[in-house]
Amino acid sequence: MTTAGPVTAPSADVLREADRRRTFAVISHPDAGKSTLTEALALHARVISEAGAVHGKAGRRGVVSDWMEMEKARGISITSAALQFAYGDAVVNLLDTPGHADFSEDTYRVLSAVDSAVMLLDAAKGLEPQTLKLFDVCRHRGIPVITFVNKWDRPGRDALELCDELVERIGLQPMPLTWPVGAAGDFRGVLDRRDGHFIRYSRTVGGATAAGEQRLDPDGARAEEGDGWTRAVEESDLLAASGGDFDLERFLDASATPVLFGSAVLNFGVRHLLDLLVELAPRPTPRVDVRTLPRPLDAPFSAFVFKVQTGMDPAHRDQVAFARVCSGVFERGMVVTNATTGKPFATKYAQQVFGQQRSTLDTAYPGDVIGLVNATALHVGDTLFAGRPPVRFPGLPSFAPAHFAVARPADLSRAKQFRRGIEQLASEGVVQVLRSDRRGDGTPVFAAVGPMQFEVATHRLDAEFKSPVRLERLPYTVVRRLPDLDHRGVLDSRGHEVVTRADGTHLALFTDSTALAVLRRLHPEVVLEPLVAGTD
Ligand code: GDP
Repeated sequence: MTTAGPVTAPSADVLREADRRRTFAVISHPDAGKSTLTEALALHARVISEAGAVHGKAGRRGVVSDWMEMEKARGISITSAALQFAYGDAVVNLLDTPGHADFSEDTYRVLSAVDSAVMLLDAAKGLEPQTLKLFDVCRHRGIPVITFVNKWDRPGRDALELCDELVERIGLQPMPLTWPVGAAGDFRGVLDRRDGHFIRYSRTVGGATAAGEQRLDPDGARAEEGDGWTRAVEESDLLAASGGDFDLERFLDASATPVLFGSAVLNFGVRHLLDLLVELAPRPTPRVDVRTLPRPLDAPFSAFVFKVQTGMDPAHRDQVAFARVCSGVFERGMVVTNATTGKPFATKYAQQVFGQQRSTLDTAYPGDVIGLVNATALHVGDTLFAGRPPVRFPGLPSFAPAHFAVARPADLSRAKQFRRGIEQLASEGVVQVLRSDRRGDGTPVFAAVGPMQFEVATHRLDAEFKSPVRLERLPYTVVRRLPDLDHRGVLDSRGHEVVTRADGTHLALFTDSTALAVLRRLHPEVVLEPLVAGTD
């Protein structure tokens, strides 16, 4: 069946390579500085002489395009789904979590492909809605989180207050590893809480490459920083008294988070973050399959698809599937089996992709992401494997939707194609398809995490199934699980809609949290369960 057999590498090689990998994503709200931080991390990992500094002034785009030129020469490889770079002996995979208008179920699914996350907070804003949603998914999956408080160079909130917010709103114990010296807006440097020294930052021209850093012992710091230093030491002592000292186990079991303070745009604290990731963040571990058996890292190649992107290259309308390697070695050209269909899939065109630019990917190890082009046969959640024994990983969960729309065929003569198309989109997880008794069987309700999913669904129904669709947006934004239909009449009579998922779960839809609160108060007998992002 295969033209190239599974690649066998000595298991010691695979284990060594896996051990070098740190695969993570940044979770944040738009504008917190994710793109700036991403670039700063990559520039640190492979410092690009002065190019970054020069172009950093003119704007980020310059840096990015420079990077792409440099990537070939220096081995930084960029995909629109993942950025890979070397740092010391480690190989860092930073997976993208699309935000803004691109926020969708894919953003959540990325978190099924990482081993840790960096929660990026704007010092002036603290926890914001999108961060909270993504954090929920991390919590549910037990993903360890490192917190980076960004923009400390600008006026913002008090550091202790930001830490309190973590405890109070999400029950996450902060364990600051650094503590700012100087209030937000007057960023002098940080107290390194692990050795009590002062790390003083100084601005470099343009700020895009490494910031200047100077280490002073506590006496030197007191002499130079005076009250600012004394205050930082006092606050640090306070933290120690309230359980804020670092504890590796609590980080790994995701009940506490190391916290760093910095400024991505000035490169303050970015090196610290990289060092922390390399030192402490979890390495790839064996992934559990559908039989709940862990697939050893040095078993033959296996991977799962966490994202499928259509039409990235307008010149060739194609489909790229992004898969995370779970075990073994991937080599371009190997033929793998799709566990869902049992069919072979040729990986001749494995690539790393960035916008229009693509570079061929030849080898990948556990923790890495491979982009497979011409992947029309691959769907989100599919398992790929080579050799024996075969393996299948559990499919990806669906997430709490926040956007709803009724879908009707615009052309009734294409009703059959419409139904087929909708089945296909539901099975691929492009949108969730719900049934509403109120609207009848033939009129499905689409549900999505982000509105962009509706656009993709509409486009595909039209282009692939030649069945144009009319979408009518529904005013709901809040969803709860309804364990039974005992009080369905109450919900119906008050204008809340009850819908059913393909797996039989009943959901109650509300326009907003106020509507939900009112119902709860007036009808405490209606049992409603939270449908937390990532729990479903
Ligand atoms: P994203 O939406 O999270 O990717 O955010 P961006 O990286 O695009 O940053 C949003 C804005 O915040 C941009 O204008 C950045 O220059 C700015 N920014 C990012 N990091 C910092 C920082 O550390 N300090 C300051 N003052 N501005 C920053």
